[in-house]
Amino acid sequence: MCALINSNLGYPRIGENREWKKALEAFWSGKLDENEFTKQIEDIRLHNLRLQQQKGIDLIPVGDFSLYDHVLDTSTMFGLVPKRFPYTGGQVPLATYYAMARGSQGATACEMTKWFNTNYHYIVPELQDAQPELTINKPLEAYREAKQKLGIEGKPVLLGLFTFLKLAKGYKAEEIDRLIALFLPLYARILTELSEEGVKWVQIDEPILVQSLSSEDLGRVKHIYVTLAAAAPALKISIQTYFDAVDHYQDLISLPVHGIGLDFIHGFDLNWSNLQTYGFPADKVLGVGILDGRNIWRTDLSRQLEFLAQLEAIVPYERMVLQPSSSLLHVPVSTRKENKLEPVLRDALAFAEEKLTELSILTKAIQRQDPMQLELDLNQTAIANLNASSYRNKAIVQQAIANIGQQPSDRNSSFTTRRGLQTAKWQLPFLPTTTIGSFPQTVEVRNARKNWRSGEWTPEQYEAFIQEQITEWIHLQDELGLDVLVHGEFERTDMVEFFGEKLDGFAFTSNGWVQSYGSRCVKPPVIFGDVEFVQEMTVKETKFAQSLTSKPVKGMLTGPITILNWSFVRSDISREQVAYQIALALRHEVEALEQAGIEMIQVDEPALREGLPLKKRDWQAYLDWAVLAFRLSTATVNDETQIHTHMCYCEFHDIIDAIRALDADVISIETSRSHGELIHSFEEHTYDQGIGLGVYDIHSPRVPSVTEMVEMIERALKVLEPELFWINPDCGLKTRGKDETVAALRVMVEAAKLFRASRSELIPS
Ligand code: GLN
Ligand code: ZN
Repeated sequence: MCALINSNLGYPRIGENREWKKALEAFWSGKLDENEFTKQIEDIRLHNLRLQQQKGIDLIPVGDFSLYDHVLDTSTMFGLVPKRFPYTGGQVPLATYYAMARGSQGATACEMTKWFNTNYHYIVPELQDAQPELTINKPLEAYREAKQKLGIEGKPVLLGLFTFLKLAKGYKAEEIDRLIALFLPLYARILTELSEEGVKWVQIDEPILVQSLSSEDLGRVKHIYVTLAAAAPALKISIQTYFDAVDHYQDLISLPVHGIGLDFIHGFDLNWSNLQTYGFPADKVLGVGILDGRNIWRTDLSRQLEFLAQLEAIVPYERMVLQPSSSLLHVPVSTRKENKLEPVLRDALAFAEEKLTELSILTKAIQRQDPMQLELDLNQTAIANLNASSYRNKAIVQQAIANIGQQPSDRNSSFTTRRGLQTAKWQLPFLPTTTIGSFPQTVEVRNARKNWRSGEWTPEQYEAFIQEQITEWIHLQDELGLDVLVHGEFERTDMVEFFGEKLDGFAFTSNGWVQSYGSRCVKPPVIFGDVEFVQEMTVKETKFAQSLTSKPVKGMLTGPITILNWSFVRSDISREQVAYQIALALRHEVEALEQAGIEMIQVDEPALREGLPLKKRDWQAYLDWAVLAFRLSTATVNDETQIHTHMCYCEFHDIIDAIRALDADVISIETSRSHGELIHSFEEHTYDQGIGLGVYDIHSPRVPSVTEMVEMIERALKVLEPELFWINPDCGLKTRGKDETVAALRVMVEAAKLFRASRSELIPS
């Protein structure tokens, strides 16, 4: 029997039935008092720990659990409460904690942003005049709780100082050494106290180490870990990286710590080649991340055992710790309830719980030198069955993808030619007005969908209801005087789910929730088979809308990259290939719309930017195939047909070439929240295709004044060609109320008219 052990890096907080979400929301709404809330939350936390114990996990993480977000936990542990919130020092009260996360009367919430390249969002620490103090040793509390209540010798998890500082804002780059000096003694104290308590292992997450660091930064990392190791010499520190390979492998392995955790799923190639080239120090333990903490598929256990056998030539089993590639926070809790899925798909899934089972099988297979044949066979069969199923063997789809270079990806003519033809065809006024697609999803709309889904309404009843909504809003838009109308997307709950439900190759879980931010959970579609167009998806509603007006109605589709990035994606073929499959399916829809007389078609790509890889050197490859996918879905239309796209963010400067390469006739983007930043980026890079900069923020119910909107237009026209300029809101309006939407659009149309009248010299003759 050999001394290989396993470890987990973090577990989903939300509970098997989203008990956590429900408790948080009940507490916020006053339905639970703080005592009852604390009790419920403790039950969830202990349940999760017990489960990991039952699964035979040797190093169970403690302190990864959170009441909202672990980055916010780190900030509040250090008493870092921005001045706009009530706080008088000491342990941060729950009310203040949640005010920081969600805002409160008189104080806007702290900013939230994406956690690396995941769909999890953290609360950005604000460090302006930070005076950190250790208000509570959170990892220590978590350790004590697990030990006293469950007899678990837990492994406290901390967010590493360097990553924490890099994720924070409110300080200048040159101040970082001062901040390190402020925080380092506090981290040292946390570790010393842990050590005194008898803690053996501590996991310090430093995912920032998968990005390229300057030599100064590497020096800082070294300084931090030399100091911490000296502060608690008896404690075993493991520095954990994830989401990609480590760029500075040799620097990392020479740090004076006991363990290094590497991701052998995302970033396998580089991590593995570094190990082979530079070896691994004999005084350290290697955390081997071999189960995908980011995806929902079963692990090919036999293959991983073969890999581990190869790895053993470099690091003996006694010095390996088997673990998921990252925290399991990013996968749903359990497949137990997924009995509505086809068995062939269901059997191939592994959510958090099942991944722990896999981990224990792998561990036992090595420890006992028992091949665990039964389990491995079951595993092999499940994976092989899905791969062999008809879902993954659609010859037509696969042939098209194999010859993707032969699929048309260029429009017939250049933008200049198209522009002339389109101007003549569409006869739009100077500065045409339009919206981004969706109109308010009122309670009425949501109830109608519920009634239809539950069978209370017949499909005909539901369809009639949708038509009423479309009719009402087409008339409204006509009356408001908008130039290009939309049907309003009333039939869609979600812009990805709607298409997933109509395309082949997608499945929807019953309970596959993952935390997105705070109590908000999402249930991403699962792309498990070859994606194929099987039915028209948007033609009926769009055609109906068009029949009600003489103004053009824009067709509205979600683009291939957004569908990809907001789903769990099969891992037997590359994401690039899946993107092309979706693109070709969408091309059918684009062509069907055109056939039906819808000759303005918007293909939304709000998720294009967030799919960027963590390492900048990998960006271009991603952008190349992402752009190609978009072009594959839009290239075959006539020159007069106008392709629009939409993105709701503003950090454009570094991907502007890719945006241009989409070759859309018109792009609409968010501007009003970015305070001119975007306009600035167009000062540096000219953009010479149609463009609509959002003239008002749709995230707030406030109806802006005409003057404000006119100002936005003025500013934009300083850098963009007036003839190519469109006027639209920042994004879709589905989260807004009806009255405020109509009022804001009225102001928007008025601003356009005013501008046209006052600046007639700009109007092309
Ligand atoms: N057409 C979509 C809508 O209006 C676009 C949403 C988005 O960009 N996220 O809702
Ligand atoms: Zn948007």
